[in-house]
Amino acid sequence: MSTRTKGGPLVSHTDQVLSRAVTFQFALDPTEDQRSLFAKCAGARRFAFNHHLARVKENLDQRAAEKDLPVGPRLPGISWSWVSFVNEMNAWKNGQLDSSPVNDDGTRGLAWRHEVPGDVFECASVDVARALKNWSDSKRGARKGASVGFPRFAAKGRTTPSFRLRNKATPGETQSIRFTDPSHLRLPKIGPVRVFGPTRRVRRMIDLGRFHIYSATITKRGGRWICSLSGVAAKFHHERRHPKDRHVTLVGIDRGVTSLAVCADAEGNLLAAFEGVNELRRAHEQLVRAQKTLARATPGSKGRARAKARLNKLHRRVANRRCHHAHQVTSWVMKNCTSVVLEDLNVTGMVKNHRLARSISDAAMGELGRQILYQAPWYGVEVALADRFFASSKICSGCGAKKDRLDLSTRVYDCAHCGLMIDRDHNAAVNLARWKPAANVST
Ligand SMILES: [Zn+2]
Repeated sequence: MSTRTKGGPLVSHTDQVLSRAVTFQFALDPTEDQRSLFAKCAGARRFAFNHHLARVKENLDQRAAEKDLPVGPRLPGISWSWVSFVNEMNAWKNGQLDSSPVNDDGTRGLAWRHEVPGDVFECASVDVARALKNWSDSKRGARKGASVGFPRFAAKGRTTPSFRLRNKATPGETQSIRFTDPSHLRLPKIGPVRVFGPTRRVRRMIDLGRFHIYSATITKRGGRWICSLSGVAAKFHHERRHPKDRHVTLVGIDRGVTSLAVCADAEGNLLAAFEGVNELRRAHEQLVRAQKTLARATPGSKGRARAKARLNKLHRRVANRRCHHAHQVTSWVMKNCTSVVLEDLNVTGMVKNHRLARSISDAAMGELGRQILYQAPWYGVEVALADRFFASSKICSGCGAKKDRLDLSTRVYDCAHCGLMIDRDHNAAVNLARWKPAANVST
């Protein structure tokens, strides 16, 4: 049986401590019936999300209007906690509230509520509560990052169809989300759904008690239904966490467009270079063409829907390849380095640049940084971020002289002081490996 010390990590039926948040993704191959059920669930998720949002908005608007009134009773605010949202949704759809819908035959409650798993409504309630919390935290300055607006209503056609189901069983019990055989994932109330691709690794981890599924998110992306299994996993085995023969010195990783990544140490040795995302440049041409077709199509026509589907599919393919390339670099870094220095790229700012080719490669760089940052603790790799004003490309790694400007098209760094000629990215990686945080600069 599983145990969970209060506030502590989950322990599996084989006594493994599960503390590492992990997500596995699979493309699904649902039957026709399952497809329409998926669409219905995504609709129910949207419906529940909008239900709460409308409730909150009405309450906020009324209270704002009452502000100007001199005296008198005030409308109380409603609780925004996810628990109260879940309870309200359940009572409302089961016909227990005054505001519950009344059907033609006189019965109360949401008529189609039993057609989809109840958990879809509950997870949607949790999601909208979180979105509202993000907005209010952001408004009062309690949230890092870009400011978050008031949640938008989930409009059909504009929102990505998606819904989540939870696995409420604890480790050791029969799981409501489980693999029934190598190619079928069973989802609560939906039944076994065919899965594409190998599942051996995740099934083995579950059998050994090294992975426990918390939830499955089903999303339609680029015309295909994708399942993300989120859960907690055990730490890697010691040998995997601490591979032998790793570089003990700092390794600088220069992320770029021509090369996805170049890794070098402070002595100037080139350790690894990973090809740029050429494939993505080729995909770029296809993207531009698909975009043009879409722009020319008549609004509301079948041709437009087809053009849109094609564009979505291409975008999806680009994103998948980008992720794949980044994974190759990340896995090299985890196996071969103990501490690395990356440039702190302002990726959010860069992606706002609307030129397609640029944003594709920027996104690849951003994805690489994201992977290195989340995997580093798994392998005990230390990551330092050089501030974005550190001119890693402009400094000469031979003598330390700094160029005033260096065009992106200049591929070879050619030093006017010491005569060093070195590949631009290699030079930048060496500089990153030598980077020291400035003591006098506060973050
Ligand atoms: Zn020089």
